[in-house]
Amino acid sequence: MSKRKSDAAFFKDYVGYEDLTRTLENWAREHGEFVRFRSLAKSENGRDIWLIEVGRNPDRLRPAICIDANMHSAELLGTNAALCIAQDLIDLHCRQREVCDRLPPSIRESALEGLYYIIPRVTPDGAEDVLTAGRISRSAPRRRGHLVAGQWVRSDVDGDGRIRQIRMKHPAGEFVEHPDHPHVLVPRTVNDGGPFFKVFPEGYIDGFNGRNIPFAHTLSDNDSDFNRNFPYDWSSDHDGAGSFPGWDPETRALIEFGARSPHIFAWLNLHTFGGIFIRPPFSNSACEVDREDLLIYEYVAGLASQYTGMPTVSAFEDMTPNQPMTGTLAAWAYGERGCLAWAVELWDLFAAAGLQRRKPFFRSYASQDRQEISALAEWDVRENGGRIFAPWRSFTHPQLKDIEIGGIDPVRGLINPPEKEIAPICERLSSFAIALASLGPRLQSHVEVEMISPKLARIDLVATNGGYLPTYVSGVSRRQPWNRGLQVRFRAPGCTLLSGQPFADLGHLRGWGRGADQEANAPFFQKSQGVDDIGLTWVVEGAGRVEIEIGAPRTGWHTHELEVGK
Ligand SMILES: [Zn+2]
Repeated sequence: MSKRKSDAAFFKDYVGYEDLTRTLENWAREHGEFVRFRSLAKSENGRDIWLIEVGRNPDRLRPAICIDANMHSAELLGTNAALCIAQDLIDLHCRQREVCDRLPPSIRESALEGLYYIIPRVTPDGAEDVLTAGRISRSAPRRRGHLVAGQWVRSDVDGDGRIRQIRMKHPAGEFVEHPDHPHVLVPRTVNDGGPFFKVFPEGYIDGFNGRNIPFAHTLSDNDSDFNRNFPYDWSSDHDGAGSFPGWDPETRALIEFGARSPHIFAWLNLHTFGGIFIRPPFSNSACEVDREDLLIYEYVAGLASQYTGMPTVSAFEDMTPNQPMTGTLAAWAYGERGCLAWAVELWDLFAAAGLQRRKPFFRSYASQDRQEISALAEWDVRENGGRIFAPWRSFTHPQLKDIEIGGIDPVRGLINPPEKEIAPICERLSSFAIALASLGPRLQSHVEVEMISPKLARIDLVATNGGYLPTYVSGVSRRQPWNRGLQVRFRAPGCTLLSGQPFADLGHLRGWGRGADQEANAPFFQKSQGVDDIGLTWVVEGAGRVEIEIGAPRTGWHTHELEVGK
């Protein structure tokens, strides 16, 4: 009997690589009929990038949903959410009441029929460093090429087991102590007297010249941002983009997997934090989303908010103040692979700590007044065990001499929620991920045989799309050469084909979904689309086996086998 999901460790805390791997092994052993996993690639440090496949007969390709998580090393919560989705799907297959009660029967049915690809940890190296040493890199703890002397290297210089911050008094310091919370630093204003502080990461300067202290860029001691390394609108100008798309083994594995899987129609790329779904467009070279797709995105935004309470924003309008986001996974998954794709910022710290959400959304990350910072510091003590803001202690730094160490550790509380929030956040996202299955195109086909005479058989095929999305999924991908329409192949080796074609290109079929705000759905103008079902007829003479195959890259394939003339 499978454990109830609430017992699983990943509902209570962030998980390391060994525990993650053990969870997948247990699932595959206990639920082999609908769960299996394999490695997409090895990280540079030799850890596997696991892919979990959930669904009956995973080799029968059909419209599928992909979820990846934790491509930014410190954004651990995504892994928990990805595992929660897998656990809920398992529970659904096992008819566990807890998950069944949460979802309407129509959605449960679609999810049980569906196919899920879950990549719970894109950067096992990066996450392991965060979990074991508290050391944060953007994506992976490695630096290749372009090594410039005079870079900050994050490390636990005072040996207390955490990597926090260094502060030093300086007349050009940008920070002052918060009047009500002296250990919390806030941006200096013209009204402030000293002391003024400069803030750097806890660590040392590689190649220190004894005088100049470099700016501590997130990518100072690591050089990849996986979410700038995908082959759509890729630009080497962007920090962390790498020397070419797919520069890192981790991103290369995702690109290859995605490009070989045209049947993926929806993709959730999980991050923290913010409490929002981010949809395309991501950059100004593609600053519009296909009109037809936009209506679908708006419809799904309603579904997302119903299940998770999280709003959907446009990346280009709400998230890219200074620099367009180039080479992101979600932009590639939508623009190149034609999936409905979102970057999902889980964990609404703003709501939890009482910080204002600003418009456009990116301003929420940049501007907080002192009252809000007070609220955050008090929330940290009240709800998070005071793990974010630590007091400052004097320390004699081997390079910088008299400094203080303390300040912010963002891993538990800022970037990821306190542990008690893991389960509710993941559960809400999981319900939405399960609901997504009911949006896929759904090819339905059946065959009838009528014996016209003892030797002549008439065979009829009828096919329709009973799904929400069209068989091409998205307007943006309709013109892609790989997004072919439905095709049919007729084979009857022992018979003579008297009428009908052995091959036919049938084009695409609409789905029933029309996106948000359709006048034709309103009582004033109510009307349906026409019916464009496929009907094909063959007449064969003789006796033998007949095989009819119908399908398309995005819908998967149906095979009908029958005997005639016996
Ligand atoms: Zn991220």
